[in-house]
Amino acid sequence: MTRALVTGIGGQDGSYLAERLVADGVEVHALVLGADSRPAHCPDEVTLHVGDVADVGATRRLVLDLAPDEVYNLAAISSVAQSWQEPDLVSRVNGSAPVALLESARRLQERGHDVRVVQASSAEIFGEPDRTPQDEDTRIRPLNPYGAAKAYAHLAVGVSRQRGLHASSMVLYNHESPRRPAQFVTRKITSTVAAIARGEADRLVLGNLDARRDWGWAPDYVDAMVRAARADTPRDYVVATGESHTVGDFVAAAFAAAGVADWRPLVHTDPAFVRPADATELVGDPSLAHALLGWRPSVGFTEVVARMVAADLDA
Ligand code: GDP
Repeated sequence: MTRALVTGIGGQDGSYLAERLVADGVEVHALVLGADSRPAHCPDEVTLHVGDVADVGATRRLVLDLAPDEVYNLAAISSVAQSWQEPDLVSRVNGSAPVALLESARRLQERGHDVRVVQASSAEIFGEPDRTPQDEDTRIRPLNPYGAAKAYAHLAVGVSRQRGLHASSMVLYNHESPRRPAQFVTRKITSTVAAIARGEADRLVLGNLDARRDWGWAPDYVDAMVRAARADTPRDYVVATGESHTVGDFVAAAFAAAGVADWRPLVHTDPAFVRPADATELVGDPSLAHALLGWRPSVGFTEVVARMVAADLDA
């Protein structure tokens, strides 16, 4: 039986990954920050270990004692906005902790136990890219503390690979679902639009409506991670749909899905939601993941929006 260690199981991707691995018959262990309760959507089959991924010593002991066959590092401060408030914390959790985890896996391997590591990286490592779409060879030039920390971890995966570790870094573009927290623009939009449709809110206030993102369906991105762990050769992959839309497009699609007409006067912009530095367009080229992992996104933009709106209308 395959044994996996997942960090960040409390997040959107962690929950989908745990469900997926349990369904595959994998013995799943997860590192969680607090012992108080099971994270949302965490299957009962998952064994929880309390600890902080940034606590290098404790995490190393866990990796060496547990001897997992697969390690998925999803633990991260996931908000670009928060990285401007707490850059030091973000650099520890998103940068140094993955580097320590890679080293723990390498030591496990040195003891004769084969292990495969998958790092959840981010399109934010490209910052304001000089080519569209971006691929695995696009220059790494982050624009914010979040992207800088993710870039450090991403490069460290390559370094570990050169030292013989089966480690892959997944350059994930925005991926959404009803489990996306409301600090992300997509869920902010769908939850507010649902509230407007129910007569419980009368305005949607956003920042830059012209920012373009490549929005996919989160469970598809988790599937790419599993495929990378199981592939013969480790490497870095861009995981994206290849299609970009503006925040404004997302707003229009959400109101359409909720059946709200005449919504334009309800949408306002506030400079408070505009970021100090923000990529205006991020869109990925997933050709390599398609060719080498047989991976393709299964849910398109309009359907992602419709599923999120439907879930928020039901809530
Ligand atoms: P990110 O791409 O990982 O930072 O994901 P977000 O969902 O937080 O932001 C996506 C894009 O939406 C960025 O370009 C934001 O600047 C833009 N955006 C516009 N208005 C808002 C808003 O009110 N909240 C958030 N979170 N983002 C916004």
